[in-house]
Amino acid sequence: MSPIELNKRQEEILRIVKGNGPITGEQIAERLHLTRATLRPDLAILTMAGFLDARPRVGYFYSGKKPGHDVTDTMNNMKVKDFQSIPVVVRENVSVYDAISQMFLDDVGTLFVVDKNSMLTGVLSRKDLLRTSLGSQDLTAIPVHIIMTRMPNITYCSKADSLIQVANRLINQQIDALPVVEELANGLKVVGRITKTNITRAFLSLSESHEL
Ligand code: ADP
Repeated sequence: MSPIELNKRQEEILRIVKGNGPITGEQIAERLHLTRATLRPDLAILTMAGFLDARPRVGYFYSGKKPGHDVTDTMNNMKVKDFQSIPVVVRENVSVYDAISQMFLDDVGTLFVVDKNSMLTGVLSRKDLLRTSLGSQDLTAIPVHIIMTRMPNITYCSKADSLIQVANRLINQQIDALPVVEELANGLKVVGRITKTNITRAFLSLSESHEL
């Protein structure tokens, strides 16, 4: 069993839940003047490590138990939904020039391409766009669907997958990001983005909650 060292924010969350539980994530965030999204990784760690219990539609409450999970359990319980980022998508007919601008504007390394129904059709990486820029073609005249990696060759994941599964796919396929999707009757709806940065952040939060 690992001794657990909490960071300052996690200590504060525990104090709030002990005094006010059951309390929703939203209410905890309000008290700390933070957004719910910012707190999500901390709440996930506290729940996984056994400090807090969470009940749907009720909120978080202090479990009173001594945390008994080791690092492996904690890692297996780290889910995509708690660590994912907002996806940045472009339509298939957008030009390579505009896709490059979008990448800079949103400060991301991977864009997802969607059709008119917002269903996933492709992926654009930095090097896909760089490769095209090497030619002497007019980048405003090339639509991204010509150069993107397309379905069915896209590796993706769902919110319920574990970060370990995602890390495996990123390493095995030698890619930087996966779209998080919901499988609908008419295709895959893009609901998130998970990248090597999210995995690194999760790795850091592990070191904050376990004395490694
Ligand atoms: P870069 O090309 O900038 O190094 P990646 O390693 O992520 O970035 O991409 C390598 C190649 O794999 C690119 O051609 C890209 O289109 C493709 N790719 C990126 N992400 C995925 C994914 N989730 N599924 C399938 N192919 C992908």
